[in-house]
Amino acid sequence: MLDADFFRRWMTATAASVDREAERLTALDSPIGDADHGSNLQRGFHAVAAVLEKEAPATPGAVLVLAGRQLISTVGGASGPLYGTLLRRTGKALGDDAEVSEGQFADAFRTGVDAVMALGGAAPGDKTMIDALVPAVDALGDGFGAARAAAEEGALATTPLQARKGRASYLGERSIGHQDPGATSSSLLVAALAEANGE
Ligand code: ADP
Ligand code: MG
Repeated sequence: MLDADFFRRWMTATAASVDREAERLTALDSPIGDADHGSNLQRGFHAVAAVLEKEAPATPGAVLVLAGRQLISTVGGASGPLYGTLLRRTGKALGDDAEVSEGQFADAFRTGVDAVMALGGAAPGDKTMIDALVPAVDALGDGFGAARAAAEEGALATTPLQARKGRASYLGERSIGHQDPGATSSSLLVAALAEANGE
């Protein structure tokens, strides 16, 4: 079973991973964006780690709802409201249980990813974070390690795609040949799940 502490570890592991990879995320956001993805997420997940330490929510749902709200209020770019919605809606779907099963989490995370698609209007293949998140959700039934591998593969597979959503879509065909920064950060988020689980 997964408790509030597991979800706090997930968020702090994500913050650490975003710190390590910030330059790379920003470099990916240079040719097909505005070179702020690394700094956007660093600011957001630092704020998430800080508020979780201060408020220490007691349930998995409350951890993710608070984290999501914090991302929405601290990240200016498109990715803030999208990641904020992902975590907030996943948290809401987990309800008030003190502990949740991996199966409950997989269902809740799917609800969160669906909410991101509804908010941003992106579908798989549009070269966005959805291209890492949907494969991850589909693989979660086989465990966090499987989800991590699926997300990494999904992020790599965005390179040959033409962007149809977000800033990169303004480039049309010139967006082809670059890995999507948001899909890359989503693979870090999913990898941090496995890390929080000691995998
Ligand atoms: P901005 O584009 O405002 O500078 P970021 O650089 O922080 O924001 O994030 C860019 C990433 O956000 C993209 O690489 C893409 O994965 C994701 N993204 C942008 N628009 C959408 C959307 N409509 N749906 C899903 N993801 C999106
Ligand atoms: Mg950007």
